[in-house]
Amino acid sequence: MTTTQNTTTARCLSCHRPLRSARSIANGRGPRCQAKVAAAANVVDLTDYKPAQADKARELIEQGAILPTRRPGIYLTVASDGTTTYLTHSAQCTCKAGRHQRRCYHTAAARILTAAAPARRAA
Ligand SMILES: [Zn+2]
Ligand SMILES: [Zn+2]
Repeated sequence: MTTTQNTTTARCLSCHRPLRSARSIANGRGPRCQAKVAAAANVVDLTDYKPAQADKARELIEQGAILPTRRPGIYLTVASDGTTTYLTHSAQCTCKAGRHQRRCYHTAAARILTAAAPARRAA
């Protein structure tokens, strides 16, 4: 009998620990990180964004379309076409709007994730 099971380990988008439960894999995050992000999404002040932008920012995170990079505070955002990517910081983004000095919802998502990120000590 041949096993064709996919051996790729799903990892948490926040802390990169392997995910075991189906629910965590669906969320893209382990329960602790998921709770942290959800809490940050409720606490972080996004009143300087339009409500629709704040909603889109939360959606972006739920879809796992904004991923941490090696640099703290810098995220890789996957555009809705699934291939284009932007580098997003809570104050800056390389998307079209961002390049035109307009505020995009990607930066709101980065703000939430930065607030939820595990505290790092400066090396
Ligand atoms: Zn995690
Ligand atoms: Zn953007």
